[in-house]
Amino acid sequence: MTTLVGLDLAGRRVVVVGAGHVGMRRTRRFLEDGARVLLVDPSPTDEARRVASHGDVELRARPVRPEDLDGAWLVVAATDDRDLNARVAGWAEAGRTWCVNASDGLSGSAKVAASSTHGDLRVGVVSNGPADSRRVAAVRDALGWYVEAGQVDLRRHRRRTGRVVLVGSGPGAAGLVTTAGREALATADVVVTDRLGATWLLEQLPEDVEVVDVGKSPTNHPVPQHEINRLLVEHASAGRTVVRFKGGDPYLFGRGGEEVHACRAAGIPVEVVPGVTSAFSVPALAGIPVTQRGVATSVLVASGHAGAEPATTAALLAGATVVLLMAVSSLPEICAAALADGVDPELPVAVIERGSTVDERVSRATIGTAARVMAAAGVRAPAIVVLGLVAAEGFLDDEVCATPVREAADV
Ligand code: SAH
Repeated sequence: MTTLVGLDLAGRRVVVVGAGHVGMRRTRRFLEDGARVLLVDPSPTDEARRVASHGDVELRARPVRPEDLDGAWLVVAATDDRDLNARVAGWAEAGRTWCVNASDGLSGSAKVAASSTHGDLRVGVVSNGPADSRRVAAVRDALGWYVEAGQVDLRRHRRRTGRVVLVGSGPGAAGLVTTAGREALATADVVVTDRLGATWLLEQLPEDVEVVDVGKSPTNHPVPQHEINRLLVEHASAGRTVVRFKGGDPYLFGRGGEEVHACRAAGIPVEVVPGVTSAFSVPALAGIPVTQRGVATSVLVASGHAGAEPATTAALLAGATVVLLMAVSSLPEICAAALADGVDPELPVAVIERGSTVDERVSRATIGTAARVMAAAGVRAPAIVVLGLVAAEGFLDDEVCATPVREAADV
């Protein structure tokens, strides 16, 4: 039977005998873990010499001797000579140093677990029987997948200091939530959530995870930002892990910066898990590339909250794509201002409601017709508005796309 222990190899000497494929794989792994590696091989490959030239590996290019093991905490016998590996294992045993015998999983005193890292957790799998690296790796991968899918309750059971994690959950579709986002959610004692993004994930949380809804909705007055900040700090101060769950990316019109600031001011550790922003992903799903060589080489992302802003008109006149968030009610005003400043009334406009969800709807118009068309269609938030040539219906169809409007200056 094998006892699994986690070794802290940082700063400790590990001797790898044999710099072939297996020996180098182990060497790289031990280096990542901070070990001081001594590599012994009478005819090292170029790869081994290159790794050793970085200075964190000592290379002895000669046959191994018993004294090479002096001061080692762990030895790996990875030559292609079984007898030599057994001899090295014997020296290690005599010196009470753990030894991995790469040619025979049963006769060494140690095995290296197939492992994967998930935040502050490391999952390791070893075989109790003969070595079978593929089988062991398959189990490691399955466990890793399970953790990354957010299927495991990762809340801390020993009270630690509280913390806040801002998680961007993307535009709403399951496939657009990041692995890091799911993992963070699985650590939550409390979730403070908006109404946008992958909120359906919250239904899968364990019953005793407290979910606080601070989102805007037609019937629900938004909770003031200072109140949200207070909630985050209060829960984290009580030692809880608080996930602040947001649509898209936390820093794009998500007031994430203000929340981070409030936590820092209160001395609360705070992290951010970026998300897939609706500003780019929702147009992409609707067949709109926000830039296209020779057509639109820059893009402005703006909020419709403040109504018509000079930057929007200037960007349109310069041929940039403009992506507007929170702009359903101000779109008529924004289009009117652009027209007054000389933007072509034929410039295409696309509005995508509830992008990436089963209820997604795309409406098309031009700057000249947008106000009328969108009102007739009854467009409602949440919606992304794209203004610019890339928003033309069928833009990615061959004929339209093949004729750049302006010559590309470079690649
Ligand atoms: N931080 C978010 C944006 C928050 S502001 C992000 O990066 O995506 C809220 C606005 O985002 C909404 O008014 C709408 O304009 C846009 N939005 C978010 N999710 C959307 C979706 N699935 N479809 C269309 N628009 C969306």
